[in-house]
Amino acid sequence: MRGYRPTKEHLIKYLDNHYNKLEDAVCHLLSLPSVLDETTASKDAPFGYDLAVTLEHFLAEAQGLGFRARNLEGYLGFIDFGPESAQTVGILGHLDVVPVGEGWTKKPFGGQIFNDKIYGRGAVDDKAPLVACLYAMSAIKELGMPIKKKIRLIAGCDEETDFRCINYYKKQGLSIPDYGFSPDAEFPLIFAEKQIIHCTLEADLPDYGLEISCGNAVNMVPGSATVKFISPYWLRKTKAVRLKLDKNNSCLINGRTAHASTPSEGKNAAKSLLAFLAQNADSEQFKNICRTLLQFAPDNEFQPALNALGLGLEDETGILTCCLTMLSLKNNHLSLSLDVRFPISGVSKSVKAQIEAIGARAGLQMTSYKYKDGLLIEKDSELIKKLLSAYSEISGEKNPAPIAIGGGTYARALENFCAFGPAFPGGGYPAHQPDEFISRADLLLLSKIYALAICNLAQ
Ligand SMILES: [Zn+2]
Repeated sequence: MRGYRPTKEHLIKYLDNHYNKLEDAVCHLLSLPSVLDETTASKDAPFGYDLAVTLEHFLAEAQGLGFRARNLEGYLGFIDFGPESAQTVGILGHLDVVPVGEGWTKKPFGGQIFNDKIYGRGAVDDKAPLVACLYAMSAIKELGMPIKKKIRLIAGCDEETDFRCINYYKKQGLSIPDYGFSPDAEFPLIFAEKQIIHCTLEADLPDYGLEISCGNAVNMVPGSATVKFISPYWLRKTKAVRLKLDKNNSCLINGRTAHASTPSEGKNAAKSLLAFLAQNADSEQFKNICRTLLQFAPDNEFQPALNALGLGLEDETGILTCCLTMLSLKNNHLSLSLDVRFPISGVSKSVKAQIEAIGARAGLQMTSYKYKDGLLIEKDSELIKKLLSAYSEISGEKNPAPIAIGGGTYARALENFCAFGPAFPGGGYPAHQPDEFISRADLLLLSKIYALAICNLAQ
């Protein structure tokens, strides 16, 4: 076919015509469980048998489409395509999924379709988006779209837990893609992710006559708190204020859980409990401790309080959020965990010092500290312009604006990467939820957006 020059229109038409194959591949992949299982880990299967099988299956699918694929000792796989070039475009997704959890009405590993929705753990996070990228690459290859750069699609196997997959890759001395995207969050595109501190503060206290247990994940707003009243004072007091206790003199306080990056979407049970204790304790000292701890659980309307504490950071990437996520008082030992997310312009050292200074008012010492760097890609960079233009062209959204978030995405793992899809604005994002699904229409759109994006980036 001399003179034949494939165009974007050909590419889109090709994806329409071959949608069934993409859907079959997605359903098959969703039927394979791929939850981390260290009990079945072995050489070449560091994350367990199921993930090793899933990775092999995905790479075989890629080979079936005519790609070069490599399994990196079970940590991850990568698929290469395109001419050797000075720069490599990367796509970073993952095959591992979070545990199934409760509340499913469909088979979590069925890959079944009801009412034009494909159900299964991994339907949006992140198996289907990954397959959409693979089939986008396949369309580009089959049509002979003009691309000038090498493309490397990386399928990680430990995104949901510890990034051990991509960290292993980085240690192997393999070439690292120069820029790219991760199809593992939302559209239009995430240009900035806040810096994150996870820390624990502890203190030994005098006997205040009670025990507390609250929260079980450092990155979640605690949805409930249990307090056990022991001293005669507390037993009298709780009776006087008509607080209902069970037969163990305990009381369950309910809140509403949410991700710690958006604390105002939840209701922090630790906060309700501390407010009660600060009001009703007999010891002034303990009241003060509770008031200090409450400062670690500000609401959004509490922003002036953060300013007063020297934590009122704000820039175009958002405000500082602080969430008291775990609280325990047992045998007079107090321990609490914080999830603090702050904008790109903030300095981690001074935020840390500020947290320590507030904690010191309650006699607390920081006993563990973990810091995750933020992410910022210039809004007018080529990367962002090219991705947004692909998104705009297919979605029809005019002048889509990149967004900043508090959450950390997989894109942080590699420099010059940003999260790009798969959730459409206003469409909901059932990741990590029961009955996770992707609609057929969205899956087709994804393949088109990613195909155009890859073409744009490979110019
Ligand atoms: Zn994910």
